[in-house]
Amino acid sequence: MKVEILYTGGTLGMVDTPQGLAPGADLEGWLHRLLAGTELAGGVELVTFDHLIDSSNAAPEDWQHIVDELRARREEADSFVVLHGTDTMAYAASALSYALTGFGKPVVLTGAQYPLGVLGSDAAPNLTGALRAALSGESLGVAIFFGQKLLRGTRVTKTSSWAFQGFDSPGVPELAVTGAPWKWTDPGLRGCGWVSPRPYRRCDVPVLDLAPGITAARLAALLDPRPEAVVLRAFGVGNVPNEEPGLVDVIADAVTAGVPVVVASQCHQADVRLGHYEAGWGLARAGAIGSTDMTLEAVYTKLVFLLSQGMGPDEIAHWMGISIAGEVG
Ligand code: ASP
Repeated sequence: MKVEILYTGGTLGMVDTPQGLAPGADLEGWLHRLLAGTELAGGVELVTFDHLIDSSNAAPEDWQHIVDELRARREEADSFVVLHGTDTMAYAASALSYALTGFGKPVVLTGAQYPLGVLGSDAAPNLTGALRAALSGESLGVAIFFGQKLLRGTRVTKTSSWAFQGFDSPGVPELAVTGAPWKWTDPGLRGCGWVSPRPYRRCDVPVLDLAPGITAARLAALLDPRPEAVVLRAFGVGNVPNEEPGLVDVIADAVTAGVPVVVASQCHQADVRLGHYEAGWGLARAGAIGSTDMTLEAVYTKLVFLLSQGMGPDEIAHWMGISIAGEVG
């Protein structure tokens, strides 16, 4: 069995510099020492990206770069691990999930909260866990291994900036938890897949968080000029301050102007149901789209994915409720 590791950047391979943590560790040497004497010694190849990034710099072009590399190298290995910064790893995992539904080989993303050279770092357990998951023989699709858990790529979110258990999938069970042996769960999440997806492009899709006291004028200003789509993070099951004069009209005007408005929740674990309360009913009537149980990362990357396919508002509204890669339902 052969695994290829694509190294894109992130804390795992960083070192201290006068400007803060930046890429620079000897990943190749560390990997060699880590795997010496294991069944994987000699079975792993490391591919280092030319420009290693802090994942807070990642954009849709970077997701596409990973997708292109994976496609180009598909025949070179049985499975793949992507070393990625943790800050936007959940976005990358969702984005890869939509683009790689037909890939047919496991892709496991991982990273670390501490660099590999720090005593007590989580780099080694995360990478070896990701390798073990990638070699498990289970059909994983795209997944994240982090902090002793294997999580579905379209369901995962970063929950802590410091804890070793830094990721979770709040809406569904883990794919596996480590132990001797690992305990596996099939969350039964399926998607219809996507044939020959077009490449990701950068899209103008703001994510707007509502807070008590927001006015219609402020919301209108945030939507001017008109974006290609917007994610509105509302309260609870998708409620907004509907008694605020003109606020729902601002959203209705955006929809009328052809801007898909996807309403998500600020709750970590959510099931958006527009119209369950009067405070969300106006949004449903205006044609806003509820995100049901999708994570913010899954919603945002799905919008960028659908826009990259050249879709207009009606098609986007249609596809937001359909599972492409297990992200919804
Ligand atoms: N800022 C880092 C990154 O996302 C954080 C990490 O990797 O943990 O690249």
